[in-house]
Amino acid sequence: MAQYELAPYAARADRSRGRVYPEPAPEFRTQYQRDRDRVIHCAAFRRLEYKTQVFVNHEGDMFRTRLTHSIEVAQIGRTIARALRLDEDLVEAVCLAHDLGHTPFGHAGQHALNECMKDFGGFEHNLQSLRVVDVLEEKYPGFPGLNLTFETREGILKHCSKAVAGALGELGRRFLAGGLPGLEAQIANIADEIAYNNHDVDDGLRAGLLSIEQLCECRIINEQWESVVREWPQLPQRRLVNELIRRMIDYLVTDVVRTSRANIEETRPGSIDDVRAAGRELIALGKEAGARHLELKRFLNRNLYQHYRVQRMAFKAERVVRKLFATFMEHPRLLPETVQTRIHAGGKEHGDAHRARVIADYIAGMTDRYAMAEDDRVRDPRESAF
Ligand code: MG
Repeated sequence: MAQYELAPYAARADRSRGRVYPEPAPEFRTQYQRDRDRVIHCAAFRRLEYKTQVFVNHEGDMFRTRLTHSIEVAQIGRTIARALRLDEDLVEAVCLAHDLGHTPFGHAGQHALNECMKDFGGFEHNLQSLRVVDVLEEKYPGFPGLNLTFETREGILKHCSKAVAGALGELGRRFLAGGLPGLEAQIANIADEIAYNNHDVDDGLRAGLLSIEQLCECRIINEQWESVVREWPQLPQRRLVNELIRRMIDYLVTDVVRTSRANIEETRPGSIDDVRAAGRELIALGKEAGARHLELKRFLNRNLYQHYRVQRMAFKAERVVRKLFATFMEHPRLLPETVQTRIHAGGKEHGDAHRARVIADYIAGMTDRYAMAEDDRVRDPRESAF
């Protein structure tokens, strides 16, 4: 139970829309605490440690991984949630689960897998995160997946095409009707963006792909950097950068709390359903901070994600994913038995699309290093076959 009284527009664990497979309520925890705990104990969560955010795992021990990224997102999310008297446990559950469906090798891996799947319904990491918690985790005897509450699943499914939404029942309805998720889900979204923009600056500097001079093109960096250097002229750059990142996160989080509070006061939602029908996202950055944040995002797109060293790694990673997919599609007998069993469970009538989906699930679940090892195992006769 939260230490403070939840706002009337918060998600209420005792009024959750519930789980697909009904279960008795937990004795000592709320429903959303249970969801958070189930995410932490699942295998896909542990694998996040060895999945790329921007830098591939073996490039260095100092860079963010999907796991540390998810923990940073949860930290930022909880701060905003508490300040707005929203349910912290739900925010944390969504934040920790939001990247569970990511492929190995970050966006390069997702891009490659989406292309491989273009004739079979495509591949989208948000949808895959939901698939992990709904279907793919095999952890409990009574049901597939983690059987999370509606609100956690609503938060995990950030985007969804109308074509796919139709098949998702109640969860897909908002994408057809133009509704919004609860404020806890909106917080997870914005916390994700704040986390990655800031840690990518940090990691980009650490890797030597970005320089402070170059970053000072962005107003948000320029302003904070000048004040940090003015205050601590004698400190080495690394410590100044740490302080820069800290101040930028603080600036953005403070702005989200103030702006969202004003939005909530203006709209006066009386319940989570009012939030869902509000017609605009109430959790937001203000105009000034929003523009600065967007400028930074665009800077990173141009200068970090397009950097030739990041692009080289992405190129190699895409090739591994494509090769694995093509090899397994053509020779499903090379797949581990558990994966073959999933293919056969679909029956003959499912054909190529079903086989492709099972293979995409298998590849998406891989860590960076597992994907590289698997590539060796099916290609190089000198490697062990298992
Ligand atoms: Mg993320």
